Amino acid sequence: MKFFEEKDALYVKNHIEKDVEKNQWSWKWPSLKVALNVKSGEKEFTVGEFVKKGEFGGKAWCTLCNCSINHENRGSIALIDHIKTVKHVKKVSTITETRSIQSMMGMGSSTSPASEVNAPVASTSTSESIREAVNQPVHIFDRVSNAEVNL
Ligand SMILES: [Zn+2]
Repeated sequence: MKFFEEKDALYVKNHIEKDVEKNQWSWKWPSLKVALNVKSGEKEFTVGEFVKKGEFGGKAWCTLCNCSINHENRGSIALIDHIKTVKHVKKVSTITETRSIQSMMGMGSSTSPASEVNAPVASTSTSESIREAVNQPVHIFDRVSNAEVNL
């Protein structure tokens, strides 16, 4: 799965979303705020922390749950509804807890996956490195859930 950034807006509009009639992906959506009740209390997140625009028209991708979210019918409401599902919030709790443990241990938070990808969309030569970068958070999350089991 490839993810697109706002700099790819034109490509997304002209290629990915060109057949989407109702709610095409909007680059305002990633900055929408959602408050979630995680273990340590209510915290504010942005849609863009979890949800990326993927390579399918009318669909976004939750990088936390590794599932697609259909935004064609209900737009940003569909994204926010997904972020508020029990399944998603549970995963957020796991990560938030791990992050605070990491910062207590002085490990900092150096998890900035997709934002560092220089994705020339049309080229195939770099698709491998894009995939690698994209897969990265999955491994981190796997480790998180493993760690939780071991605890
Ligand atoms: Zn999710």
